[in-house]
Parts: sequence; structure tokens; C-alpha cells
Amino acid sequence: SPAIEAARSLIRTIPDYPKQGVQFRDITPLMADAQALRDCVEALIEPFSGRFDLVAGVEARGFLLAGSAAMVAGVGLAPLRKAGKLPRPAASVNYDLEYGTATIEASEDIIPGMRVLLLDDVLATGGTLAAGRALIEKMGAEVAGTAVLMELEGLGGRTLVPEVHALFSM
Ligand code: IMP
Repeated sequence: SPAIEAARSLIRTIPDYPKQGVQFRDITPLMADAQALRDCVEALIEPFSGRFDLVAGVEARGFLLAGSAAMVAGVGLAPLRKAGKLPRPAASVNYDLEYGTATIEASEDIIPGMRVLLLDDVLATGGTLAAGRALIEKMGAEVAGTAVLMELEGLGGRTLVPEVHALFSM
């Protein structure tokens, strides 16, 4: 849609960040624009309307979207945090990064049977969102859907997270 195209045009591309040869897609200009923020948050949750009880965001940029989406949808939110940040994690999932591994954790506020919509800014290899989905399921909750602003092409994210709703790809 024109609204999502306008939002997409706000993405800032930073060459050679965080390392040589990588094109980093910076979403901060989109987040700073009131209209783009609203349009994107509404489009992220629209396919799942009425079918989720909670929004979960992946640290850190996923938190920004989850906060906005939860308010728009009229539901609560839960952060999926990097290891060691939650005072009393109820469950954790380890996953592979390009170099090494990472862990995300959830608090007990994700309750068994809850329908949880999982949000993040970018789908790259898919490792992060696959781990997020596994974590929600480990809590006994149901993944109502997975949505991102942007899918990076050619990194295989779709293979790991086939059912992701992406507003646009780059
Ligand atoms: P994945 O696990 O490889 O899919 O990487 C996704 C995670 O890395 C997400 O949490 C993103 O925030 C982050 N990420 C990877 N590439 C980019 C980028 O170009 N811009 C912003 N975030 C990125």
C-alpha cells in the first residue's frame, strides 16, 4: 500500500555496519515518524485481529513495536529478553548466531493457553524469531502469529520461519 511504501522509504541503509560488507537497515527514522509508526503498527497486527491475547517483542527493537502494538490492539505485552536481564526467568531458549550462540528468556507472565503475537523489526536468518516462537511454546502458550517490519532477502529467514508476516522486504 502507499502508506507502507512511504514507511519503507524512511529506512536508512548504513553500509559496512556492524562489519565490512553488511548493509545495516536502520529503522529509527521510521519509528520517529508518527504516521509511519502508526501505519506500520496497524499493518503488523491487522492479519491477526481478534486472535491474540498478548504481544511479545524481542529485545531490543521488538520492544518498541510491541509497546505500540499492544496499546493499539488493547492487549498487554511481554518482553523476550536477552539472557541475564529478567530477575526471575521462567523459561529460556538457546539459538545459534552467525558466530556463537545466544539465549532469550521469558517471565512467567506468558501464561499457558495464551495466544501470543510475536513481533520484531527485522527477519534476517530467522534464528531470533524461531527462538522466540520456541520460547512462547515452551511456556505452554500458543503462537498466534509472527510479524516483522522487514524481511532481508537471501538470508534464508523464510525457511526457518515460513509463516512470518513481513510488511516489506529489502
Ligand atoms: P536473525 O536472527 O538472523 O533473523 O536476525 C534478526 C535479528 O537481528 C533481529 O532481532 C534484528 O533486530 C537484528 N538485525 C539483523 N539485521 C538487521 C538489520 O539490517 N537492521 C536491523 N536489525 C537487524
